[in-house]
Amino acid sequence: KEQVKSLRETLGIKVTGPDPPHPVSSFAHFGFDDSLMKVIRKSEYTQPTPIQAQAIPAALSGRDVLGIAKTGSGKTAAFIWPMLVHIMDQRELADGDGPIGLILAPTRELSQQIYTEAKRFGKVYNINVVCCYGGGSKWEQSKSLETGAEVVVATPGRIIDLVKMKATNLTRVTFLVLDEADRMFDMGFEPQVRSICDHTRPDRQTLLFSATFKKRVEKLARDALTDPIRIVQGDIG
Ligand code: ADP
Ligand code: MG
Repeated sequence: KEQVKSLRETLGIKVTGPDPPHPVSSFAHFGFDDSLMKVIRKSEYTQPTPIQAQAIPAALSGRDVLGIAKTGSGKTAAFIWPMLVHIMDQRELADGDGPIGLILAPTRELSQQIYTEAKRFGKVYNINVVCCYGGGSKWEQSKSLETGAEVVVATPGRIIDLVKMKATNLTRVTFLVLDEADRMFDMGFEPQVRSICDHTRPDRQTLLFSATFKKRVEKLARDALTDPIRIVQGDIG
């Protein structure tokens, strides 16, 4: 117990919420299989970042996660790796044809960055990743969705448009990530983000990441997450 406390102090994170799992200090302790470990080793990352050390065990145990950490703290991998494990567990069980994993991001650039990472790691399992953002061709995006996307990275307005066009559906989403929630709100996407939460299964697993923890993000966390493990890095929040 004391050891866990001091490891969290060393990592500079504060953790609250019911029964949080222990943080880990090494990639080997996540329990990832050899194929995923191989690409992680190829990225030349030496050890998990503080947010990864705590958020990944929490997400792998099926818990909802609220992660508050500044830009550059490695949040992308903190949700992508557990999402890939989730999809490998779910892909045989899930009926339907929509995505199993859905990642919402505020802008085209950010969604493309996440897409690149998701593809890089997802290819070890042949996971099909599709990126949909405002400003891109709806026709092209709906064509790529037809190829059977298991993971969709999207801006909130665009994925709603594509659902309305029946280019995809969200009935199979069991792993939802709200990335850069504060920026999505700054851009006016709050109604869309909330609508997407309301149109996905209530028993989904949800991860919410933000660089700041303002009132509106706090309220979204209360509404969209169930008994989350809240991880705050540094002095924010
Ligand atoms: P955030 O989303 O928190 O702003 P990113 O996920 O974009 O941060 O990561 C920032 C940078 O850190 C990226 O270049 C990423 O490849 C790198 N990175 C991620 N995890 C690690 C790690 N464990 N060790 C070293 N670098 C990492
Ligand atoms: Mg990020």
